[in-house]
Amino acid sequence: MRQTELIERVASYNPSFDEDTLNRAYVYAMHQHRNQTRASGDPYFSHPLEVAAIVTDLKLDPDSVVAALLHDTIEDTDSTRKEIDGLFGQEIGRLVDGLTKLKRIDLVSKKTRQGENLRRLLLAVADDVRVLLVKLADRLHNMRTLNHVSEERRMRIAQETMDIYAPLAGRMGMQDMRDELEERAFQTLHPEGYSLVYEKLNALREASGAVIREIEKTLVDNLAAANIEAVVKSRNKRPYSVFRKMERNSVSFEQLSDLIGFRVIVDTVEECYQALGVAHTRWRAVPGRYKDYISTPKQNDYRSLHTTVVGPSHQRVEMQIRTHEMNDIAEQGIAAHALYKDGIYAAPGALFSEPAEGDGLSRLRSESRSYAWLRQTVETLAHGDHPDEMLEQARLELFFDQVFCFTPKGRLIALPQDATAIDFAYAVHTDIGNSCVGCRINGHAEPVVTRLKNGDEVHIIRANNAVPPASWEHVVATGKAKAGIRKATREARERTYAGIGEKILAATFRRSQHKFDIDMLGPILGRLARRSESDVLAAVGRGELPAEDVLKAVFPDYRKERGKRQKPPQSEGWFNLSGVANVMFRLPGRRREKYAEATREFAASIPIRGEHGDMPVKIDPKSGAVPGDRIVGILSPGEGVTVYPIQADALTQYEDTAEEWLDVSWDIDDENPERFAARIEISAVNAPGTLAEITDVIGRSDANIANLFLEAPSSGLTKMVLGLEVWDVTHLNRIVREVRRLSVVSRVERIFK
Ligand code: MN
Repeated sequence: MRQTELIERVASYNPSFDEDTLNRAYVYAMHQHRNQTRASGDPYFSHPLEVAAIVTDLKLDPDSVVAALLHDTIEDTDSTRKEIDGLFGQEIGRLVDGLTKLKRIDLVSKKTRQGENLRRLLLAVADDVRVLLVKLADRLHNMRTLNHVSEERRMRIAQETMDIYAPLAGRMGMQDMRDELEERAFQTLHPEGYSLVYEKLNALREASGAVIREIEKTLVDNLAAANIEAVVKSRNKRPYSVFRKMERNSVSFEQLSDLIGFRVIVDTVEECYQALGVAHTRWRAVPGRYKDYISTPKQNDYRSLHTTVVGPSHQRVEMQIRTHEMNDIAEQGIAAHALYKDGIYAAPGALFSEPAEGDGLSRLRSESRSYAWLRQTVETLAHGDHPDEMLEQARLELFFDQVFCFTPKGRLIALPQDATAIDFAYAVHTDIGNSCVGCRINGHAEPVVTRLKNGDEVHIIRANNAVPPASWEHVVATGKAKAGIRKATREARERTYAGIGEKILAATFRRSQHKFDIDMLGPILGRLARRSESDVLAAVGRGELPAEDVLKAVFPDYRKERGKRQKPPQSEGWFNLSGVANVMFRLPGRRREKYAEATREFAASIPIRGEHGDMPVKIDPKSGAVPGDRIVGILSPGEGVTVYPIQADALTQYEDTAEEWLDVSWDIDDENPERFAARIEISAVNAPGTLAEITDVIGRSDANIANLFLEAPSSGLTKMVLGLEVWDVTHLNRIVREVRRLSVVSRVERIFK
């Protein structure tokens, strides 16, 4: 192919194109690739030139031809997008850039076998249909020149063509392109299968030559008699389509029927149905083989009538009946659409040639935004002359709502547009989602709530025994992640219930001089109507199953002791909150004993995560407890567990009762901290501005004031009680110190009542 020949090809369907740009692109691409050769030994430039020739076969616009010439320059030479923009304008720069991106995806696709997803990725990345069309032309030329590359590379390219590019061409309605890609890929991947079917088809064609001519003549005569002008063509079946049919139906070549096919092309839709009538009058129709894709087009806008009849020698004959318009669309796909859409182009297939003035496409050309061409095509077809057409392009747009990301091993994960790394983790595997604690996106550490972008490579960092925070449920986008998080937090909650239950049972058993062991539960599961040991523990923890019922089930002789309780010692003692603050608290001896009893039984205490969900744990609102406080849980039947700081006045009432004291500890989710309530009592000078000074200090130290009570001033001092919301005990202590430092304040104290 020479420069002048390429120019002539474009001129043949687009006489007024910009020849200068095409010439400059030709020279530029030849220069950029000057030192490169193809596997065949040919100068590399022969490749982009042939791709450009295929693009002219598709009768695409001159910009696409130029983009075809330049399509490998950015990736394979020292050209840059900026340089292309400067030399050929942004429109062409954008097309070449799109082709470069697609080429990079090809490199990734080596590792992935997910054809469907990869097809979608191509669609999402190519923001202009012309990019896809040039890409298909590129692939077609690679397939035509495949025999020069290594065996391994040949197989990979052929497989990829079969998995991705041939179906893509099919979805865009380009039957010819799809057929050639498929046949060439088939020939490479299964050479024996190909030659077997190919030879049998040839033999059949020779053997049934007379029959085919007879049918053809009968058809032409009968159609003419009915006043229908028609083009009748016998159709050669393609080896791959025959092979696929043999595979799909597990039959031999000889068992296949309707290997003889005809295409009848007429002028109007009415004539399609008339021609069908003619065929069905002359030959018997095979029941169940009639398909009307005219009233119900396929999704890629394929329209045709299909039927199979029984021919003169009792062989089945397949027929496709359609108009010229339908035929062009079936063969060329979207490239043929605008021709019929606007009906103003004289030359067939002039879709992308310079349109008449005021035409929609020329308006489009001036639009610089991505997707403009595609969107306009979709809109025109959706609301234009063929409102009933649901075009493939319209469906392509749906894919723009998705993002496509990769695992480090190259697996492609398709996600909705606003998906996060957490969604990605769950999409790969539920276990990975559940154990996800961090991520690296394209090699950089990022928060797991980061929204992902097309092409991101996501590496999930995992930790054993991690539990996803319940708050993630409101951040993620996919149902799978939501369900996974819900299930994991529910299970974690069940484990907490079971922990509470186990402690309760241990204490109950101990009071009746027994030692509780979880193995005791096995034999009594039936009696308690519970499925498992942990089920029993959780039910006790939830307050559904009284601990005494379990005790009675294990020891049927058990009688509730009515003996007198030990009188509690009344002496007071000191309680050291070590690890929190070096502060000694004065606590009643009975309380110390109860607390010691609660902590003695198990090494691990029950983790308290705050007050989320339906956990039967609440913090006593009067006492208030904040992370860092030494806390204790009181289990009341039917009410669940209430958490108190060990200093709480309210605990006094439980010192002598049978209520269970539970050892609990804080388990705060650092990534999703929440505030906790505490109260302080302040005595301050009764003067204007005092309150403002105090609230100012509190506000500046990042605490919320939830409520405030003022007592009537006496002897010049005002007493006030402030309900604060703070992060933890350190935060609270800092606030107390700062308020105490104010000259108007005489006393500050945390209160627990
Ligand atoms: Mn190429």
